[in-house]
Amino acid sequence: MRQSKLFTKTRRSAPKDEISKSAQYLIRAGFIHKQMAGVYTLLPLGLMTMKKIEQVIREEMNKIGGVELSLTALQDPEVWKKTDRWDDDKVDNWFKTKLKNGTQLGLGFTHEEPLTEIMTNHIHSYKDLPIYAYQFQTKFRNELRAKSGILRGREFLMKDLYSFSKNQKEHDEFYKKAQEAYKNIFHRLGIGDRTYMTFASGGVFSQFSHEFQTLTETGEDTIFVDEKKKIAVNKEVCTDEILAELGLSRKNLKEVRAIEVGNIFNLGTRFSEPLSLVFDDEKGEKHPVIMGSYGIGLGRVMGTLAEVLSDEKGLVWPAEASPFAVHLINVSPEEEAAVKTAEDFYENLVANGLSVLYDDRKMAVGEKLADADLIGIKTQIIVGAKSIQSGEFEIRDRQTGSIKKMSEADILKGKFAKA
Ligand code: ATP
Ligand code: MG
Repeated sequence: MRQSKLFTKTRRSAPKDEISKSAQYLIRAGFIHKQMAGVYTLLPLGLMTMKKIEQVIREEMNKIGGVELSLTALQDPEVWKKTDRWDDDKVDNWFKTKLKNGTQLGLGFTHEEPLTEIMTNHIHSYKDLPIYAYQFQTKFRNELRAKSGILRGREFLMKDLYSFSKNQKEHDEFYKKAQEAYKNIFHRLGIGDRTYMTFASGGVFSQFSHEFQTLTETGEDTIFVDEKKKIAVNKEVCTDEILAELGLSRKNLKEVRAIEVGNIFNLGTRFSEPLSLVFDDEKGEKHPVIMGSYGIGLGRVMGTLAEVLSDEKGLVWPAEASPFAVHLINVSPEEEAAVKTAEDFYENLVANGLSVLYDDRKMAVGEKLADADLIGIKTQIIVGAKSIQSGEFEIRDRQTGSIKKMSEADILKGKFAKA
């Protein structure tokens, strides 16, 4: 993409009402636009970043047997009444609306109910199980507090996977695989080292659920981490009894702030029983399906990357979440030879399968470089009069700040990514 065609402009300062660093940078760099509190538009750069994050999650979900689908946002109250989650007294964050004839509808804040209902058409026998179905879908939640940019939205994209198993053993095996998949995801997105699997309260069907918590001082949650064991517990379950059970000792725990980027739950038969999702075993006896749910908020992940990986110059994307692989910057846009070299270079990079943001704008060098640092694309390649003379181009890694020089031929072979 040519930056001259990218309609978003960077901003020198952030809106005063945005208090979180991630929202300030994402707005200043032109990734998101605040529509109203808790409601954000994804601008082109934001959308590209989201798609990169989505693809990492999709690959890891497919690896553990996930099958993708897409449920509706509009919800039929009747289904939710069966599980007692329609009443505002029971669920306090519903957005509800009405048809012209007065019939009530809801905007889905999660999707256990409709998917369980759908599965009654597809699950009859033990031979139909297990099933792991997931989606990337917009959730609506009437959140009381929405002051942290896309970290807590009222409309946000979630990956939610639901597992349907015939017995506890099959469920437990998948639950473990999902934990590993989540670790892979956060590792690939560059926050693996500071994201802790955290024991949280489990509900009726199991003692624990698991949150994935990324450490940062600005996080909304308080957790207690054992850095050696790489385990954490959240506030609700940090009792002496549970610590003993988990083999943790209070003196090795540090109280820290964190952001919950993912959450996995054992649901047992909480939804399959009221919605009559049952299967026949080998003997023809009926049993309710055992379920689990596995969520990741994509906007929250994007916000978390912006929050924890950024520096004083702006955003810093890890390779797998970078909106483009390369930011090609012509620093001599007034010189014909440099323009020609940069144009050819751009075409060649694209032809070699690299995604490139090409800064072809006629602007002061300082401003172009400041914009590039604010936007935070992983690799910057500088083209200018100097590089044309020497035949070598400067490659700057946004994260480490390291600078290498390489010929166009080597760059096109993708050597910069490996070195
Ligand atoms: P929280 O405790 O932060 O309110 P939750 O426990 O209600 O979240 P879940 O229902 O488990 O969240 O949702 C799964 C994931 O969706 C969360 O781990 C988080 O990454 C994301 N998520 C939840 N609420 C929001 C929100 N309002 N905005 C953005 N992402 C969210
Ligand atoms: Mg939570």
